[in-house]
Amino acid sequence: TKQIVLASRPNGIPTLNDFRSENIELNDLKKGEVLLKGLYYSVDPYMRGRMNEGKSYVPQFELDQPIEGGVLATVVESKSDLFKTGDTVLGALPWSEQMIASEKGLQKIESTVESLTYYLGILGMTGLTAYFGLMQIGKPKAGETVVVSGAAGAVGIVVGQLAKIQGARVIGIAGSDEKVKMLKEEFGYDEVVNYKTNTNMKSTIAKLCPNGVDVYFDNVGGSISDAVIENLNFHSRIALCGQISLYNSTEIPMGPRIQPMLLTRSVLMQGFIINNFQKDFPEGIAHLSKWVNEGKLKFTETIVEGFDQLPTALLGLFKGENNGKMIVKR
Ligand code: NDP
Repeated sequence: TKQIVLASRPNGIPTLNDFRSENIELNDLKKGEVLLKGLYYSVDPYMRGRMNEGKSYVPQFELDQPIEGGVLATVVESKSDLFKTGDTVLGALPWSEQMIASEKGLQKIESTVESLTYYLGILGMTGLTAYFGLMQIGKPKAGETVVVSGAAGAVGIVVGQLAKIQGARVIGIAGSDEKVKMLKEEFGYDEVVNYKTNTNMKSTIAKLCPNGVDVYFDNVGGSISDAVIENLNFHSRIALCGQISLYNSTEIPMGPRIQPMLLTRSVLMQGFIINNFQKDFPEGIAHLSKWVNEGKLKFTETIVEGFDQLPTALLGLFKGENNGKMIVKR
């Protein structure tokens, strides 16, 4: 079977040369194991951090070893009592066309919604990230103003709609005019700014948020966040979800010193990783699926065809090539 391994650790922006495709023979199945065929592979910004050497909240990828991520797969053969041939499972699995996996850590997917791929997006890790980051840290109230950066991505597109369900006014920040149009026309954002063409983000945010910003859901960091932070209200909240604008930086740029803003306005800023909320995942999934089934929560995906396209799709996240969740279909 074919697998894709980490060939070298990138310095700055990764390139396709940092990946290598190779053929391997799979071992025989042992008791408690299943043979899987990958269906859909999730590519996510946090994978960039795992390409670096060093300790973080997820282990680094090892050189010459397969990249690993969220994968939806079909059971081809089973020596497990928990899974049978034909089952669909979700797990943290290698970038391999077929793989042997232990039954431990695999989750059986009984699709009740139209699309299986939703379990990599709105009903999976990114949907839960939007849900818990907004509801437990941002805590928007009706009538408040919520700003979301990375608004057209997998997490952002859900955050905006959840904030609308809470009765907030929602302003998005995204990287193209097409994304601006999509968020306003299809996903209920009240206003959206294209940060790539805007020449004064601070004053634009001020204009679009005449009552100031009560909640900032930050997916990107850097100068975009500096501009939002200057418009924060007294007792506002920042849900610090991601910093994608800095993931390829070799040196972290310093922004304006934000302490005066946070201190004098009594701002609450909390970083989080989604696993902090693991025990509440069933509650999150229940809410998200209910809203999806009721048509209150919509989603979109960019599905790239072909296993070999995995590295290209991952790198595409850093060029804004996706609307909603970026997924690769084998
Ligand atoms: P997205 O689907 O949002 O994909 C990434 C998007 O980021 C791109 O489409 C692009 O959109 C934008 N982007 C890329 N480079 C830059 C840049 N230099 N400046 C501004 N925007 C940029 O990814 P996810 O929704 O999966 O993740 C969003 C964020 O949330 C990431 O930072 C991720 O690391 C984080 N995250 C955190 C989790 C947690 O547990 N805390 C869990 C999951 C995700 P555009 O065209 O608008 O530039």
